[in-house]
Amino acid sequence: MGKTIIVSNRLPLQIKIEDEELEVTPSVGGLATGLKSFHREGGSVWIGWTGVSADDVPQGMEDLILEETRKEQCIPVSLTEEEVQGFYYGFSNRTIWPLFHYFMEYCEFNTDHWETYKQVNEKYANAVLEDLEDDDIVWVHDYQLLLVPNLIRKRKKNATIGFFNHIPFPSYEVFRTMPWREEILEGMLGANLIGFHTYDYERHFLSSVNRILLRDVTFNQVILNSRKVRVDSFPMGIDYDKFHNAALQTNRLTTDENSDFQQKLELHRSSTESAKLIISVDRLDYTKGIANRIRAYEFFLERYPEYKERVRLIMLAVPSREEVPQYQLLKKEIDELVGRVNGKFATVTWTPIWYFYRSMPFENLIDLYTTSDIALITPTRDGMNLVAKEYLATRTDQTGVLILSEMAGAAHELNEALLINPNNFDQVVETIKRAFEMPREEQIKRNKVLQQRLRRYTVEKWANDFMRALKETKDTSKTYDAIEIDEQIEEAILKKYRQSKNRFLFLDYDGTLVDFVSNPKDARPDQELLDLIQSLCAQEGTQVVLISGRDKETLGTWWREVPVPLIAEHGVWMRPASEEWVLSENVRCDWMETIRPVLETFVDRTPGSFIEEKNYSLAWHYRKTDPGLGELRANELSTVLKDLIANHGLSVLQGNKVLEIKSSDVNKGKAANKMLINQKADFIFAIGDDWTDEYLFNELPKAAITVKVGIKKTNARYFTKDTQQVRDLLRKLAKQN
Ligand code: UDP
Repeated sequence: MGKTIIVSNRLPLQIKIEDEELEVTPSVGGLATGLKSFHREGGSVWIGWTGVSADDVPQGMEDLILEETRKEQCIPVSLTEEEVQGFYYGFSNRTIWPLFHYFMEYCEFNTDHWETYKQVNEKYANAVLEDLEDDDIVWVHDYQLLLVPNLIRKRKKNATIGFFNHIPFPSYEVFRTMPWREEILEGMLGANLIGFHTYDYERHFLSSVNRILLRDVTFNQVILNSRKVRVDSFPMGIDYDKFHNAALQTNRLTTDENSDFQQKLELHRSSTESAKLIISVDRLDYTKGIANRIRAYEFFLERYPEYKERVRLIMLAVPSREEVPQYQLLKKEIDELVGRVNGKFATVTWTPIWYFYRSMPFENLIDLYTTSDIALITPTRDGMNLVAKEYLATRTDQTGVLILSEMAGAAHELNEALLINPNNFDQVVETIKRAFEMPREEQIKRNKVLQQRLRRYTVEKWANDFMRALKETKDTSKTYDAIEIDEQIEEAILKKYRQSKNRFLFLDYDGTLVDFVSNPKDARPDQELLDLIQSLCAQEGTQVVLISGRDKETLGTWWREVPVPLIAEHGVWMRPASEEWVLSENVRCDWMETIRPVLETFVDRTPGSFIEEKNYSLAWHYRKTDPGLGELRANELSTVLKDLIANHGLSVLQGNKVLEIKSSDVNKGKAANKMLINQKADFIFAIGDDWTDEYLFNELPKAAITVKVGIKKTNARYFTKDTQQVRDLLRKLAKQN
């Protein structure tokens, strides 16, 4: 096994440049802790930005930074101030962050920011590619790097790539407003495994992939032409022991040994007999619901004045993204609110809110957690929220009450906390009251269960689980019946081709020679394809046959200039090279009058679906419908048709987002075999991508080389990944002689 390459926006280290001196210290955030076991393993590396823009690095110091960060097994990505503005403060934090947290009104769709975001994602991907070896595992983190997985995949097809999104993934209805939604989804789908904190984010993502990219999704897998992508939820934990042990240590200190901050907190507690402390800890971010929390606290004091002078809200707001205007406005709003509430209620000896706008050293954070009676955590939207978990871990005597917004990812795991809807002020006020009155035994009962869970599912376990799942995706991608055409098989096919004198190539059209497009009329053959088929036809001893479900008019028009034999409508019509169309025997269409009205009722009830009338078949297309509704109606229609077709000698073909009803006597296999009668073919090759091509694979002689396009269940002997690979193979055949 190779090394692990971790990629995140920031490196897990702090860089300080003062008086031309460089100081590099490792940071101890949640991610760094979770990944430390991988990161410390021999040879593993972490790629990211140092936090210092290239413009601020004194000349000549670049090499020193490289050298010093290397000691921490890190590789810095150098970003200019302009890049940081466009990529980080711009697209990441003024577009993705608000959109993914449902703050659509804050969302800016700025093309320059998007361009910089793409460019910087390329930088990260290039840094990975420079270091990437065959057996390595790449794990990309978070919303700043959504495009990186596919940028790596494009240049390293077989790489093992995991992606974890640490923030929510919004519902399709919100995500689809993003102008670059396709690029973003494609970017993420470059990974083998995509992880989210909760199942809700996972299903929102899958729904967007299904509806926007029209990719098939089965359970938690996205089916791409050439591979599958697994999507799963892995709720991130904390370093439980670190917080628990720190709290044990704090609790052991004597009053004199306590920090100044702790002594201040104690002073409040001893001010009256029944003094209570509520704490809240967050980055100053509009997603954290800080303003509404203050308002709810104000209502609480109004409704329950007996708590005045007994309760205090200690609010720690850590400065964040101060360059983004929304954060500046929020800062002002919170300052004013705190001022107003304190002004309204304060007495000579008591202020209701202690507000700290700064970050606190770890020891003081522990002081806060351990001293409080209630943690009031009320985000309107939060990917996970680690503070909630950290608070619980520090409650060494298992007392304390966590009031947590149900909009935080953590709420899914912390059911025994008091969960609230942060928009329901009345509920928040009553829950604060309930928390104050909760008997000690109940607090302990609840926290005991919560702590057990947090102790078990730590950040390290989270990382291990993700890595294990990522490695498994590599194993499952090999479990298909058909064999992938590798170099060796390709060489054997080419050799057989060279040695044969009478060859037949049956080539399906849509999904095989050209990719699917949303309007089937736009899938006209490009010049390269016309030339390729022409050159195959020109080979002596080679019969190329295009075999398609399409109507004869379209196929005939598209292939007017290239004299290739055509089979249209699954075998209803045949056009020997450049000649007139010939109708197959046994086809009838007297059944159409009965079936058409049935299909029409489905068109009426399924927006986006339509009927295609071919000469001898009827097709109901649902590619442009809502995917869920389309599948539902297709199942319904199959059941309805089952009874009707039995009486008419018809069959229903389930194609790619299409149901086609036609005479049972006609299919691609029968049509191809008809062409082979008395031909003494010594090389038969058939390739196709959908269900209707299975007739070809099943009914052709055993010696035929049958190839499925895409990784799907098939009776073909081989498979190839996509239309590009089909063309590559055909190009090679065209060069043989
Ligand atoms: N934190 C910190 N210093 C502080 C206050 C908080 O390092 O002064 C940490 C806290 O311990 C937690 C993290 O910041 O680990 C906040 O993570 P969370 O998931 O709650 O919110 P995010 O900031 O990721 O949105």
